[in-house]
Amino acid sequence: MERTVPGPASLDPGARRAILEAAASLEGDTVALLSRLVRHPSLLGQERSCLDDMEAVYAEAGLAPRRIPVDPEALRDHPGFSPPLIPYDGRDNVAALHAPREARGRSLMLQGHVDVVPPGAADLWTTPPFEPSLRGGRMYGRGAADMKAGLASIVTAWRALRLAGLQPAAPVQFAAVIEEECTGNGALAVMQALPPVEACLIPEPGPGYPALYTAEVGVVWAWVTVTGRPTHVRDMKAGVNAIDAAYAVVERFRAYEERANRAEHRHPAFAADNHPINVNLGTIEGGEWNSSVPTRARIGFRVGVMPGVSSRDVAAEIARLVAEAEAEPKLRGAKLAVEFKGFMADGCLFPADQPLSRLVCDAHREIVGGDLRHWAVPALTDARFYALYGGAQATCYGAEADLIHGIDESVGLASVHDTTRVLALVMAEWCGVERVI
Ligand SMILES: [Zn+2]
Repeated sequence: MERTVPGPASLDPGARRAILEAAASLEGDTVALLSRLVRHPSLLGQERSCLDDMEAVYAEAGLAPRRIPVDPEALRDHPGFSPPLIPYDGRDNVAALHAPREARGRSLMLQGHVDVVPPGAADLWTTPPFEPSLRGGRMYGRGAADMKAGLASIVTAWRALRLAGLQPAAPVQFAAVIEEECTGNGALAVMQALPPVEACLIPEPGPGYPALYTAEVGVVWAWVTVTGRPTHVRDMKAGVNAIDAAYAVVERFRAYEERANRAEHRHPAFAADNHPINVNLGTIEGGEWNSSVPTRARIGFRVGVMPGVSSRDVAAEIARLVAEAEAEPKLRGAKLAVEFKGFMADGCLFPADQPLSRLVCDAHREIVGGDLRHWAVPALTDARFYALYGGAQATCYGAEADLIHGIDESVGLASVHDTTRVLALVMAEWCGVERVI
């Protein structure tokens, strides 16, 4: 097979076969590890048990794990920093570094996030979200696909090399991070704490077909608090209804969304996507009593950001549209306040022709067959830090997922094993290998 990627001498066929056989022999371990990780309800602020377990997992794999805290004060001036939602005590990321005897190849970061999004209405799940369930060749559970399968694949890929009597001939970093789903500050802290790498590969789940991430949008989280004037409903006209006023704010956000998706604002990477910029009204709370005009309402938005547009400019635009809404006569003096907590993230490109991406495509073709489709993603990942600020090549490629962030999230186990083998080959090809003595 013709190699298209410059770098260390291509892996010899014997080593290649040994790595793939080792990976095949570890498939049961991958599934067991995935189950073990899904059992941790590692929601925002509840990641500790999963982080402790990942520390144990890395140690069991022969790596020397260390903890990397998130220090918001140290990161505050970094352009990739997002305003935190909650404090960082007791939530240190886990990392592990492999040092080769002789560094001959290119360095690599293999990363995954431990945090998961809330299960939604748990009663709608076929089986409880944090009880891993194997059905029809799939693992069901919150985080099974996004992205505990990726964390498990990374560990098995590393173990496959070792079982084949090999190890990467370049520094390899492993990391299990927090807050991929709300700020990215976990990944940013890890990147800042560790030596620079030449590439970062994150096995985030795919779209349901084999795909290579080639671009992603940015995201801004905005929270708007509406303060009205309460009265008894019998004098309803004398009051100012905070929930009614919140509707007016939502209309402004919808108008923004429509403008942001117009063809003239679309980045070429998203040419095939008619609606890459999604504005999600994600949370709403407010009101006090069914027979009182509500005093206060708070709504939380997730606003997509086109690559090439600064998230800070989008935040400024959001602040402007909230100020304009406040001035609308129909709001009748309601007070609006906007704050930015959570994502303040720029969009990013992962060029398909960069050597890392070509290597992933080659390995996928060899293992699974067929060409990876290019995927410009209307969501974001931690890979942006390495591409935007780390001077590294970065992309994501991972297992076939269904209903991530939804009810009955699942991942196809055959594709988890394929991903593991692809990661093992990419690691061996990118870094080169040396014999373990
Ligand atoms: Zn994810």
